[in-house]
Amino acid sequence: MAEQERPIRSAHGGPRLLLRRLREAMAEPISAQARLDKIVVHIASNMVAEVCSLYVLRSDGRLELFATEGLNREAVHLTTMRTGEGLVGLIAETAEPLALSDAQSHPAFSYKPETGEEIYHSFLGVPVLRGGNTLGVLVVQNRARRAYSEEEIEALQTTAMLLAEMVASGELQSIVLPGSDISIRRPLNIEGKAIADGIGLGHVVLHEPRVVIKHIVAEDLPREEKRLNEAIEEVRASIDRIVEIGDNAGAGEHRDVLEAVRMFVNDRGWLRRLTEAIHSGLTAEAAVERVQNDTRAKLQRSTDPYLRERLHDLDDLANRLLHQLTGQSFVAEHDDLPDNAIIVARNMGPAALLEYDRKKLRGLVLEDGGPSSHVAIIARALGIPAVGQVPNVTDLVETGDAIIVDGSTGTVQLRPQPDVESAYAEKARLRARRQEQYRKLRDVPSVTLDGVAIDLHMNAGLMIDLEHVSETGAASIGLFRTELQFMVAPQFPRMNAQYALYKAVMDAVPDRPVTFRTLDIGGDKILPYMAIYEEENPALGWRAIRIGLDRPGLLRSQLRAMLRAGAGRELRIMFPMIAQVSEFDAAKQIVERELAHQKLHGYELPTDVKLGIMVEVPSVLWQLDDFVDRVDFMSVGSNDLVQYLFAADRDNQRVSARFDPLSPAVLRALRKIVRRAAIKNKPVTLCGEIGGKPLEALALIGIGYRGLSMAASSVGPVKAALVAMNAAETSVFVNELLESRSGADSIRHELAAYAEAKGIPL
Ligand code: PEP
Ligand code: MG
Repeated sequence: MAEQERPIRSAHGGPRLLLRRLREAMAEPISAQARLDKIVVHIASNMVAEVCSLYVLRSDGRLELFATEGLNREAVHLTTMRTGEGLVGLIAETAEPLALSDAQSHPAFSYKPETGEEIYHSFLGVPVLRGGNTLGVLVVQNRARRAYSEEEIEALQTTAMLLAEMVASGELQSIVLPGSDISIRRPLNIEGKAIADGIGLGHVVLHEPRVVIKHIVAEDLPREEKRLNEAIEEVRASIDRIVEIGDNAGAGEHRDVLEAVRMFVNDRGWLRRLTEAIHSGLTAEAAVERVQNDTRAKLQRSTDPYLRERLHDLDDLANRLLHQLTGQSFVAEHDDLPDNAIIVARNMGPAALLEYDRKKLRGLVLEDGGPSSHVAIIARALGIPAVGQVPNVTDLVETGDAIIVDGSTGTVQLRPQPDVESAYAEKARLRARRQEQYRKLRDVPSVTLDGVAIDLHMNAGLMIDLEHVSETGAASIGLFRTELQFMVAPQFPRMNAQYALYKAVMDAVPDRPVTFRTLDIGGDKILPYMAIYEEENPALGWRAIRIGLDRPGLLRSQLRAMLRAGAGRELRIMFPMIAQVSEFDAAKQIVERELAHQKLHGYELPTDVKLGIMVEVPSVLWQLDDFVDRVDFMSVGSNDLVQYLFAADRDNQRVSARFDPLSPAVLRALRKIVRRAAIKNKPVTLCGEIGGKPLEALALIGIGYRGLSMAASSVGPVKAALVAMNAAETSVFVNELLESRSGADSIRHELAAYAEAKGIPL
């Protein structure tokens, strides 16, 4: 037997010749089946195998024999097996190659009589992979018992890569049996988390487009090796530069990610695999793709969260290399965005979303991203439906795929069937009709059934928001997030640019006060042009008013712009992230000095300047009386307050979703704020995301809030709920619940039942 187990060198010109043959076969104007038939003949002959077969994964999870050289031809499109069944099924399941000199003695071997394969002893199979997903299995078999060499396994994997392109192109769809589908094109219904309401139908635009590899087969191996080495050097140097200088603001990267990527770029095993892939006949970029495909296939199946996290790092590195090698752009071209673009991204900063043309955006899908992340806030401000926490989505989509985003349920429909598509189109129409009803509520007074007036304000931050003020009938702008202008600008906006925006805002809302918040940057709100100081915990770091007081020049020029824009009007200014009284006092002093300065230079002043604070750091809760005596108004930033109360990062869904803002802990804290302020008659509003949700708004009104500020799209639904509620009765109900539900994590359930019983629309 030992004599028979000899590795056979490929006698027919080696893998490179095979690749060239396959490339020619791919280009021939013949039918898909004829092409596959030709390809398996080439592979068998080149690898000196009696059999070569291609199995393609169907959407029903079965692997179907699509072409064979050597097995019975009648079995083509007839023989199928489940993933996990037999050797072929095992390869599809594990996404790993399998080489056996005696296949039939393997415990997973399963016999398919119609194929006539019983006479073949040796077996080599590799998965057909793309983006880490298994599309099929490619097999060669030999009659003799023989060992397949590492080079042969490598060569077959490389060949499989070419076939993956063919499967992904959709060409094989023409030869599937009626009623079945090829897996990679199958419709998918994926569950995520709703982060911005609405329904969007459109086509996929990958925020970080996959590099399209145009040249797979190498013409000149030494040249490809040289290209690879140069690209690795370039990427290595650029990462070193970023890590050393700390200039990593633009890409929103963090040092630990870069360190991990740096570790991989120096990893010998990884470098060796790349070189081997080139030796099997691939261009440098195709080699990177191949090796990354194998790695993804392995790591994606891992249940170890650490390893899966490393996959992101490796993806990052592979991407950098691919971009370096092909010169293709890192981000989607904004110029040729389709009219109904649905952006799909692993994660995205708020500024990146703002760079897209709003008119063409129909939705956003993220692998990460919680409901109170800033990109979610921007999506809501722009009125773009968004779903976050969609596992693996960037690997499942192809640019241009049809996709539906349902931001009301947190569902994504990928490549929907026509009936699903029309059901969603109908749902979108119904929503539009509901929006129409909300619009009708615009002029209805915002008063509860028992006559309690509730002021509904709007959160804004961009010019595009302003048109919504009159559309929604919002009482005013309760929170103008000034940082958004800074986040979308290529450099620090000068005082004049700030003035122009603030003036436009004041002009757009001529008869109502606007509450401007001073710059709230830091945390996940990064300015690309501002040097970043590495911080272990950015949410607890140097942000908002802390930066303002440490860099008073910045704050001063912003205040100056506000004071000038507010000439002749009442101006309201609010400071974010105030944690102690002295910070407010210091900020107030800067305002007063600036006012004096303006006066001295003869500028017209606002008729009144009201100063307030965001209540979003828990320390303020035990200094309420001190603040109430000093400030003109307060606005509760529940997004941050809840994150700090529960010590749960608002951007990290794994922890933030554990805690419900409708918990006794949060509601008692919020009630304390509103009650203390009421004693001194100081106005309090709430401008966090919970204010824009009807059920949460019900609770807030119940505990005493009379002013809420929210995204424009929330004004209608919240108003519809409040005009149907009785404030006094709700107050009794909520306050009693807060006393009686001792030890409960949430009162959501009880409150929802109450709303339903009272016919309050949610
Ligand atoms: C908040 O923290 O609730 C808030 C309104 O501000 P931002 O979301 O901008 O931090
Ligand atoms: Mg905040």
